[in-house]
Amino acid sequence: MGNTTHQYGKVILAGAGPGDPELITIKTVRYLQQADVVLTDRLVSNDILEKYVHKDAEIIYVGKQCRTGPSTPQATINELLVMHAAEGKLVVRLKGGDVSIFSNILDELQTLTENKIPYEIIPGVTAALGSSAYAGIPLTARGYSTAVRLLTFYKSDVVSEEYWQELAATNDTLVFYMSAETLNGVVENLVKNNIAADKLLAVVEQATTPLQNVYISSLYDYGRTAIQPSFLSPSLIIIGKVVGLHEQFKWLENSNTHEHYFTTINSNASIHQNIIAE
Ligand code: SAH
Repeated sequence: MGNTTHQYGKVILAGAGPGDPELITIKTVRYLQQADVVLTDRLVSNDILEKYVHKDAEIIYVGKQCRTGPSTPQATINELLVMHAAEGKLVVRLKGGDVSIFSNILDELQTLTENKIPYEIIPGVTAALGSSAYAGIPLTARGYSTAVRLLTFYKSDVVSEEYWQELAATNDTLVFYMSAETLNGVVENLVKNNIAADKLLAVVEQATTPLQNVYISSLYDYGRTAIQPSFLSPSLIIIGKVVGLHEQFKWLENSNTHEHYFTTINSNASIHQNIIAE
């Protein structure tokens, strides 16, 4: 069906999963096969684009990269969605992981409703769940934790002083997105608030990809090492007693490599470069 024009355009907001191209839903694959235009994030496996997108479809990279590198302004993404849907096209807006977790879906939903463009939302496997499965760290293992919190600490004012006290005291498993570069701050705040020593820290780097690495440390040891490791993007942080289960249930060895799985946006690339999938 690719490249056919539909009387009314439609936008499919879909999650691509965390990395492993097989962790995408059948429903999203079906829409990728039918789409005229695919607007994709940086954290989407190239394999997904190569294997599932129709050869006549237009793929537009609208990646955002935290802190470094150029990124496509949200206003441009919104304009592209409206422009292509207004031409009667079937547009898939593909996002890494799940569409609703730490993404700009609200902006896009508002744009679509303001412009009366029909849409569907398809969930994806979020990084917390991909990391948990591929690192053998069950997030709410019985006897260890009864809840999990999805958090971020990408800048210092997103977590208040009182909330750090609460995070240090709770038995809930803590998952931090977009926080590998600010990990020192996360550890410092939890240690300052006397987090229990049996709660461990895991950093899952490039989770679910062939380049996955899992680093485990006690929060107290982490603070003592003079040289702090630096983690490749994307990395996810998991903190809690459940991290102790990794040793027993890890089923995937570390790749021990330090190459990037996802294409890094280099500063020479145009902000939304069009390519035609082979
Ligand atoms: N919507 C995405 C999250 C976007 S925010 C989702 O549901 O997963 C981007 C952050 O997600 C990264 O900074 C990182 O913390 C995390 N992340 C995404 N993919 C990841 C992966 N394969 N491995 C580890 N962390 C990942």
